[in-house]
Amino acid sequence: MMQEAYNILEKVFGYTQFRSPQDEVVNSLVAGQDVFVLMPTGGGKSLCYQIPALIRPGVGVVISPLIALMQDQVSALCEVGVRAACMNSSMPPGHNAEVENLVRKGELDLVYIAPERLMLPSTLEWLSSVSVSLFAIDEAHCVAQWGHDFRSEYLQLSILQERFPAVPRIALTATADAKTQEEIVARLGLQQAAVYISGFDRPNIQYRITQKVKARQQLLSFIQQEHLTDAGVVYCMSRNKVDSTAKWLSEQGIKALPYHAGLSKEERQQNQERFLREESVVIVATIAFGMGIDKPDVRFVAHLDLPKSIEAYYQETGRAGRDGLPSTAWMAYGLEDVIKLKQMMAGSEANEQFKRIEQRKLDSMLGLAEITSCRRQTLMNYFGEALKEPCGNCDNCLTPVKTWNGTDAARKALSCVYRTGQRFGVVHLINVLRGKMTDKVSQFNHHQVTTFGIGEDLSDTQWRSVYRQLVARGYLSVNFDHGQLFLNDKCRAVLRGEEEVEFRLDPVVKKQSSRSSRE
Ligand code: ADP
Ligand code: ZN
Repeated sequence: MMQEAYNILEKVFGYTQFRSPQDEVVNSLVAGQDVFVLMPTGGGKSLCYQIPALIRPGVGVVISPLIALMQDQVSALCEVGVRAACMNSSMPPGHNAEVENLVRKGELDLVYIAPERLMLPSTLEWLSSVSVSLFAIDEAHCVAQWGHDFRSEYLQLSILQERFPAVPRIALTATADAKTQEEIVARLGLQQAAVYISGFDRPNIQYRITQKVKARQQLLSFIQQEHLTDAGVVYCMSRNKVDSTAKWLSEQGIKALPYHAGLSKEERQQNQERFLREESVVIVATIAFGMGIDKPDVRFVAHLDLPKSIEAYYQETGRAGRDGLPSTAWMAYGLEDVIKLKQMMAGSEANEQFKRIEQRKLDSMLGLAEITSCRRQTLMNYFGEALKEPCGNCDNCLTPVKTWNGTDAARKALSCVYRTGQRFGVVHLINVLRGKMTDKVSQFNHHQVTTFGIGEDLSDTQWRSVYRQLVARGYLSVNFDHGQLFLNDKCRAVLRGEEEVEFRLDPVVKKQSSRSSRE
């Protein structure tokens, strides 16, 4: 059986070897087992069902939501002599009936069908009357509400298991964190499926997340010291920040160009082309940049703002080093990022369930930013792919992080929030802790509260670090009006002295001398 698979791989597709785990997937599927495959884009998911469809008797049915891509796939297959066709609403009249006929006569190996077409009673009827070798459910994350691309038509695909219990099914996706995976398995009834997760690790990318002190300056020194003649992408959250950062970097002698949806089409195109064509161009962009841009030698991706989820972070940093050569994913992150994102989410108009999902995704991202152990292990773990050893190529592996027992500091910081009425931001809270007589302190009589001046042992920066970690780890909540901090259930144990808190000791980031910014 495997010999047959190798023959097809070579004779039909022209490849000499399977990529791991294509061979195992093919094996399972040919044997009639359900399979769930997670591989990044470009990993080689198509062969996983195309080859079994050629080996097993009957027609292989591929369900795909992307009508535009269907025709490309079919054309490519026909070119190598595979008998394939597609059925969807954009086809001329008569076409779909003709496909049905060819399948009845056993003259097609693969049929690509849009989910809404598949669910028509007439289509299901027709499929029941012919021999089906397998069902391949492409872009399977579309069935998950926890995912980012939910499509209600996909929910009905659970019917396949009931109507065609003897036909093996394979679900494939490139974007699925552990939670999405669970949902796909549950909704498509894949509890018995063999699961293959592979290829998410990008060992040539060095992951680094540093504390924000003067973010722009830090970015500039990062570029100057490590990537001065390289192409790179700098991601910012807002258009304004893109514009100002690109301008500032240019003034410092970096060939930096802006890219966001607010620019004219011509300007966007021009900047994109320069990025692709010229050497050492840095694109400063919102997340609008990157879709469909295939430049293999991007040497760094930098984030000046925190992405909203690990998926986003992984996807954006993944644009570095497609050629496999050493590249850097660098991010500067600070207290304001956490507060701003939490505030935005708390204030969004979305429904409660959606908000809860967004919130949990952000919390995972914050976890990655705060973690003191290997970043790559955490990242891979999020996608369900285990990495046995620490990677040796992330900041935490390269420079192990020290921690300190912050139980006492945490208690002081939380008490201060409570004593001042849970309606102030971090700057004021730190002033109270450090006993500074500001106008605001005297206006609210906060020199009278018991926490006034109890925090003189730590600096402003250290207190900011304490508050950042308390918010990031969910001990403090953020109000969406003005980002005021308030207590929640999780912090009670700390306040009562029942829980110890271990903090990351943020390395002291040296401020740049003004000289280097002049040059
Ligand atoms: P995905 O669907 O996971 O994004 P594809 O199935 O489109 O990936 O495959 C990506 C590319 O890799 C294609 O150009 C494909 O021809 C190529 N490819 C897939 N499997 C192999 C293999 N075993 N050997 C060589 N090239 C392969
Ligand atoms: Zn590591």
